[in-house]
Amino acid sequence: MSKTTPAVTSQPGGAPEKAPRIWSTTLMFVMTLAVALVAVPWYAITHGYSVGAWVLFVVFLYANGMSITGGYHRLWAHKSYDAHWSLRVIYLIFGTMALQNSVFIWASGHRVHHLNVDDEDKDPYSIRRGFWFAHIGWMMREYESGKPNLTNIPDLKRDPMLAFQHRFYLPLALATNFGLPLLAGWAIGDVWGTFWLAGVLRLVVSHHVTFFINSLAHMWGSRPYTEENTARDNPVLAFFTYGEGYHNYHHIFAHDYRNGVRWWQWDPTKWLIAGLSYVGITRRLKRTPGFQIQRALLSMQFTRAQEKLAKHHQAGHSHIEQLRQRIAHEYETFTAALSEWAKVKEQWLEEKKRLVVEHWEHSQLQQRLLEIEASLRMQRRRLRIISAQLA
Ligand SMILES: [Zn+2]
Ligand SMILES: [Zn+2]
Repeated sequence: MSKTTPAVTSQPGGAPEKAPRIWSTTLMFVMTLAVALVAVPWYAITHGYSVGAWVLFVVFLYANGMSITGGYHRLWAHKSYDAHWSLRVIYLIFGTMALQNSVFIWASGHRVHHLNVDDEDKDPYSIRRGFWFAHIGWMMREYESGKPNLTNIPDLKRDPMLAFQHRFYLPLALATNFGLPLLAGWAIGDVWGTFWLAGVLRLVVSHHVTFFINSLAHMWGSRPYTEENTARDNPVLAFFTYGEGYHNYHHIFAHDYRNGVRWWQWDPTKWLIAGLSYVGITRRLKRTPGFQIQRALLSMQFTRAQEKLAKHHQAGHSHIEQLRQRIAHEYETFTAALSEWAKVKEQWLEEKKRLVVEHWEHSQLQQRLLEIEASLRMQRRRLRIISAQLA
């Protein structure tokens, strides 16, 4: 996730590194970082910070971060749920304050990222062009890959609130970044302390933790769901990124409102969205069916088991023939479960069409689908035990 630079054509055929620099963005990043590194400690030594200023730093940091993750990312870029206008206004105010460009540009670039993930020419923040490029470099030059293509957001363009933000982005960004910290600082009687912490330091920290999703979350962590792209699941990153560190899951099931899909996985954005659904502020939350999640996990387990088997074979471990047979047998069970699931699902859909809504939820076919899902879960356990013997 992250933002895209204003559109200007880069040199056709030229090396990407030679693309012209975007001075406004570059200076903004350099100067905010320099002020955060110099003025913030200087003020601590000369004046000290009040507890209130620190509290406001955390409050604004979270408000910014979760407006990007809950609003820009999961609501607007992926449409993973619906939100009441009051929540959308809050997302817009604090998302603008996060200084990651308008929702139009951000969501458009992000949809391109998902569609072309890891493509060196098309992914606006492809990790294959290095950590620095994926983290921040892509925003500092007029790369062809970063050129906004607003044709992929017709749904968002119909929203007048988003059009307003896009049109008046710069004055709104300045007003929120200077106005809100100064106002809050005045309210608690510590204008300058609040400005340095909740204004400048908050912006720099907010920027870089978000940018880690494009850089570190495509390099560091595990890939339990798919190896078809570089996205990784990483609980450490999830902690600092309001739940977005479960990026491997996110790239395979991008329309799920959750990134950390297990109940215990740290994903405050998911908890916010789910929590607000109880009072009707969020609605129509999209969840990936459990069966699909189990299928993806199990497929990856089989791939890994096969890799281990191949290695043992090369090393001449003929005694693992028994394990090989067990894995082959498990694989047969797996494919049988998949085809049965498809068949039952079809029958279930037919039945659902015929019966009234109250009844189909309790139908026997629905029960059978849940049983198949549970059997995949058991199979994952068995396969884990077999794989452990191969290690
Ligand atoms: Zn990604
Ligand atoms: Zn995404």
